[in-house]
Amino acid sequence: MSEEPTAVRPPVAMIRTQVELPLQFADGYTTGGRVFSFEGLVDGREHLAFALGDRAAPHSAGDRRVPLIRLHSECLTGDVFGSQRCDCGPQLREAVERIAETGGYLLYMRQEGRGIGLYSKLEAYALQDTGIDTYDANLALGHEGDERSYAAASQMLDALGVSRVALLSNNPDKARQLRSFGVTVVEQVPTGVYVSAANHRYLETKARRGRHTLELPSVLGVSGRMR
Ligand SMILES: [Zn+2]
Repeated sequence: MSEEPTAVRPPVAMIRTQVELPLQFADGYTTGGRVFSFEGLVDGREHLAFALGDRAAPHSAGDRRVPLIRLHSECLTGDVFGSQRCDCGPQLREAVERIAETGGYLLYMRQEGRGIGLYSKLEAYALQDTGIDTYDANLALGHEGDERSYAAASQMLDALGVSRVALLSNNPDKARQLRSFGVTVVEQVPTGVYVSAANHRYLETKARRGRHTLELPSVLGVSGRMR
């Protein structure tokens, strides 16, 4: 797939620091990693890139093979505390292992609550408990349904020497935005779907309102992993 002619590249960002960061998850899974910080990101946030697998070695920038990339939006409740209201924790865990196997980067984007922030996300949860879905709850709080821009992600990839990616995502907006910023998305690789009784409605809404490509079981309360 070729770069879209309308692509508008954001300003160039630079790598600020890179350092080895071995990872161990709650289930015992471990992998080597290298974490990068940046200078000049357009939204001024402290996003991180984790190089995993064969990309975790120093001086691997400029490798011509297409890396597997995941843009993971920060979710404090799901990533750190294992919240059952969403599937972010298992998504993050899966992404790290799959990227470590293949070689690539996990971009950890500080975009809590689809960009509305942590406190607003909790307010949106409270609204959802009155029967409103996750997108309408954001709208009711004066936000967009999804406020995330991936301009900074495209800057980070550029700084890492990556112009072509295999994108690990079920979210078509991520591929569309990356292409609009000049990144060539060679392939979109679907992630697993993690369903629990508590997040079933949330996932259904993501599929319906966010046009995520998810296949959900019709029976509520199914817990486990599907492809
Ligand atoms: Zn989450």
